Amino acid sequence: VLREKAAAWTGPAALADGTPVDLLANVQDGATARAAAEGPAQGIGLFRTELAFLDRSSEPTVDEQAEMYGEVLDAFPGAKVVTRTLDAGSDKPVKFAGLPDEDNPALGVRGLRIDSLDRGLLDRQLDGLAKAAERLESGRQAWVMAPMVATVTEAKDFAARCRERNLSPGIMIEIPAAAINIDKFLPIVDFVSIGTNDLTQYTMAADRMSPHLAELTDPWQPAVLGLIARVAEGAQEYEREHSRTVPVGVCGEAAADPFLAVALLGMGVSSLSAAAAAVPFVGAQLAAVSPQICAEAARLALAADTAKEAKKSVIELVSSS
Ligand code: PEP
Ligand code: MG
Repeated sequence: VLREKAAAWTGPAALADGTPVDLLANVQDGATARAAAEGPAQGIGLFRTELAFLDRSSEPTVDEQAEMYGEVLDAFPGAKVVTRTLDAGSDKPVKFAGLPDEDNPALGVRGLRIDSLDRGLLDRQLDGLAKAAERLESGRQAWVMAPMVATVTEAKDFAARCRERNLSPGIMIEIPAAAINIDKFLPIVDFVSIGTNDLTQYTMAADRMSPHLAELTDPWQPAVLGLIARVAEGAQEYEREHSRTVPVGVCGEAAADPFLAVALLGMGVSSLSAAAAAVPFVGAQLAAVSPQICAEAARLALAADTAKEAKKSVIELVSSS
């Protein structure tokens, strides 16, 4: 049934009562960004830059990077485009990143941590992004976020380097440490984006690539949902106290699950970003539910003791509404 609804759904995303939803696409280069722009996504919530350069054995120059990032910005003129700095390492090998050989690369030097070995790589990437951002109309900034942030020190350093270049800084929340201490990160950045793939991997201590651990690498796991809710609630409380909005997105696979998407909005997540192919399914499902159903879905999911129970109760609620 959802397949038919998805085929007929054209966006823009909104709940049944007309409340708009920021529904975005995950892309990896100009071609996938242009393909996403053909569909109903309103912007890009995650541009995985490491995938744009997977075939490169040498680091692209600042100009080459600026051109690639510019192509993605050009696909959605005037819309939100969130570019993630290089998330090299572990499941995303990037030849030119100079990664050390490690026994446990998922717990090793990856994402922003490469900066501890070589600050130049991120500086040149930020230069490329700043150059690409020159095409934006005046007053608009490019949104740039760092992967694999664990500490406030990392977040402050990243944000400062972005601001020096007039880029709007954000961080991914995909390490439990950052979700647990979300209050300490919110004042530093302009936005956060929850990466549920890694947040699940690290919360459950279960390799996201393992075919044997599917039950554990499920974002419906109560501990994962609890951390997501903590981040969303933290941002809402921060907004009440400081009159400053720090949008909370979800850009992992969880956002591609139409039922989980309902619960995520109910928790207070303000944008969802999924593979372009999943966007119509999520959009069609959201169009069928009210804000009250979203809130109830969040309540049911957070009250469940198991992933299975959480999923079952939300599917039952949404299907009967
Ligand atoms: C995530 O970890 O959820 C995420 C969006 O990033 P990636 O899948 O690229 O690690
Ligand atoms: Mg990740």
